[in-house]
Amino acid sequence: MDNPIRTRMAPSPTGELHIGSLRTALYDYALAKQQQGQFILRIEDTDQKRYVPGSDTRLLQVLKDFGLNWDEGPEIGGQYGPYIQTERLPIYQQYLKELIDKGDAYYCFCTEEKLTQAREIQKAAKKIPRYDRCCLKLSPQQVKENLANGIPYVVRMKVPENETLIFNDLVRGEVKFNTNDVDDQVLMKSNGIPTYHFAVVVDDHLMKITHVFRGEEWLPSVPKHILLYRYFGWEMPQHAHLSIFLDPSHPGKMSKRYGTVSAQGFLAEGYLPEAMMNFLMLLGWNPGTEKEIYSLAEFINDFKIERLNKKPAIFDRKKLDYFNGIYIRQLSSEKLFDYFKKFLPQASDDQINILMPVLKERIVKFSDLVISTKFLFEDLDYSKELLLKKGTDPKLAIEMLTQAKNLFTDFSNLQTRIMDLIKQNNWNTGEFFMVFRVAICGSEYTPPVVDCLPALGQEATIRKIDIALNKLLN
Ligand code: GLU
Repeated sequence: MDNPIRTRMAPSPTGELHIGSLRTALYDYALAKQQQGQFILRIEDTDQKRYVPGSDTRLLQVLKDFGLNWDEGPEIGGQYGPYIQTERLPIYQQYLKELIDKGDAYYCFCTEEKLTQAREIQKAAKKIPRYDRCCLKLSPQQVKENLANGIPYVVRMKVPENETLIFNDLVRGEVKFNTNDVDDQVLMKSNGIPTYHFAVVVDDHLMKITHVFRGEEWLPSVPKHILLYRYFGWEMPQHAHLSIFLDPSHPGKMSKRYGTVSAQGFLAEGYLPEAMMNFLMLLGWNPGTEKEIYSLAEFINDFKIERLNKKPAIFDRKKLDYFNGIYIRQLSSEKLFDYFKKFLPQASDDQINILMPVLKERIVKFSDLVISTKFLFEDLDYSKELLLKKGTDPKLAIEMLTQAKNLFTDFSNLQTRIMDLIKQNNWNTGEFFMVFRVAICGSEYTPPVVDCLPALGQEATIRKIDIALNKLLN
């Protein structure tokens, strides 16, 4: 193909990969694969102040964990590398020089203090803070002298005055900007490292990117990018600014105060990559049908840019749980076993084999296992009142537990033998099970307790009953 579709994911190593960025990567991947194009990964690490050590490696890993392997990028290279921006500094210098020579960018020698002061004055006057362009007035001679004297500088882009820029977004349609609202953006910082705006344009062009998907928070950057493409005489890739995620549990943007927001965090909580992907496919895109369960291959096939949604996407965690449940129930026993093992490393293989059929239908995410099976690995503290939650007389509770204790000499037919015991004594079933459940699990909300007993074993079962009896006797 002459002009293959080339998409890219360009995360910054400033922390864990946000779940919204994972959706962006998914759409990038799907479009590239659908069109037999390439999906490129580029690390945008020009903001050294925000660099979080190790996060670059983790970004790569989490994309792989979700099955989004890149055709070009870090680790594997490619025709248009390097794919890490700080390894491309000489390239940016070369293109920056071109802009300065043409008069589309200029040196700015203003000190940080002066800029801060000017900003404060503008803010006080209720104006949007913008660079006052004082260095644009410097003569070529003055610039030369300043450079010769080693005065620190940045390079800014020259933004034309009062011009309307029209842009066609693949999601939002026509968007207009007035250049009076655009600052003379710094393109190169005093340390010789470019800013995002400059590097992204140079790289998207040199890497022959045809489609850019990114979050809608980047929309205000578009006029700067349009101008840079124009200054260089380059064709701008098509852009799709994807809707933000809203978490219905709280107002405003998704916040980590209300639950994990990182791609890695969801894996750590025990969401399956396939379930997460399926959920993300439908967050900002819709197939136009009722179809909800999508494999990656089906999504690649059905994905259409025209079906991207403009409206904010509701990140409904209950819906995600629903998808996760579906995908958990579809796992093979081997895979299910591996997940149980991963989340319950202290459990023996025998214990896992007992727990799997009991819990498989109940778990929403694998980290739930840790809480619901805690009683198997430690004696949890609880109050005497909890044992008597159903208004049980302490004497009766003692009687129930003492008699039940005698059943655990062997673990066969437990359910029937417990029911027989209840019947013989004419106990209330609900009452018995509350006392028993709390004694064994230390909580009133538990998985089916009798089914879990074989995983607990005789000794621990009896010990737990003794602890409960002690509480009741004191
Ligand atoms: N490096 C930017 C980020 O971290 C990428 C923005 C873009 O895709 O243009 O989100």
